[in-house]
Amino acid sequence: PFELKGRSVYVAGHRGMVGSAIARRLAREDVKLVTVDRREVDLCNQAAVFDWFGRVRPQVVFLAAAKVGGIVANNTLRAEFIYENIAIAANVIQAAHQSGAEKLMFLGSSCIYPKLAAQPLREDSVLTGPLEPTNEPYAIAKIAGIKMAEAYRSQYGCDFISVMPTNLYGPGDNYHPELSHVVAALISRFHEAKIAGAGSVVVWGTGTPRREFLYVDDMADACVHLMKTYSGAELINIGTGEDITIAEFARVVAEIVGYSGEIAFDSSRPDGTPRKLLDVSRLEKLGWRAKTSLHDGLRQAYEAYRADVRSLK
Ligand code: GDP
Repeated sequence: PFELKGRSVYVAGHRGMVGSAIARRLAREDVKLVTVDRREVDLCNQAAVFDWFGRVRPQVVFLAAAKVGGIVANNTLRAEFIYENIAIAANVIQAAHQSGAEKLMFLGSSCIYPKLAAQPLREDSVLTGPLEPTNEPYAIAKIAGIKMAEAYRSQYGCDFISVMPTNLYGPGDNYHPELSHVVAALISRFHEAKIAGAGSVVVWGTGTPRREFLYVDDMADACVHLMKTYSGAELINIGTGEDITIAEFARVVAEIVGYSGEIAFDSSRPDGTPRKLLDVSRLEKLGWRAKTSLHDGLRQAYEAYRADVRSLK
């Protein structure tokens, strides 16, 4: 096992949903947490990143910084998604190597797997077929990061590992009506419909795609667990092992929010990949399982959303 105790641990992306959850989780470990603001170090700026790592020399790195968004954001901001995510991965991984970091975890995504790969998605299905077109730029950037971690391990002997989370949700999510992921989008849309007393809410696509959802604090717990216990070139999926159709999911969100009107599907909106369920057997063999049920996680996410809405007023 790898001891986190007493080490300086840098969380890249500490203001994001995932990075902030990892930082919260690390507060329960005996570590020196290191973060740096985007205004001070832009992770797309190679010189700034190299300079900062050279001065601070964190011993452990969680690379949770990324440009992220839902299906529309991925599909329309295609250049920004590929450029920024490649730049962040390239700069941080090289800087960690140059400055002698002992361990790094790269966070990928389940969208790296081929659109039509066998389900549940096994880690070894990466690069066996064409990607889902709506998020291909993002996926290519994440595959570049994975392959960097692998190459730095094989050429330089760096203890760099990669994990692939499923769709994540929870406090700190982005609630933008167009650019968010489905969980945040539906929480805010159903909430606003309830407040307005609206009789119908639109859900994108046909409702038939299936998605797996993991609560972000579970994700953070899995990351810390794997940082301590796993070392290897193989990817590790992080998920719950269960999925649900978007139509069923919309009903669960409506129930939690307390919206009782109609749910309409807009099939002119993209469905994206038909199914994206992760095979979590490697993760379970490594001794970790998700703890938060979808209901409990959504209740907490809805609470966090309401607190955010109140603080904006
Ligand atoms: P994906 O898993 O990469 O496709 O990312 P999303 O979280 O954006 O979308 C998941 C699924 O939810 C897709 O089939 C979407 O069409 C569907 N969906 C339904 N309503 C919405 C919505 O309001 N926003 C988003 N982002 N997706 C929605």
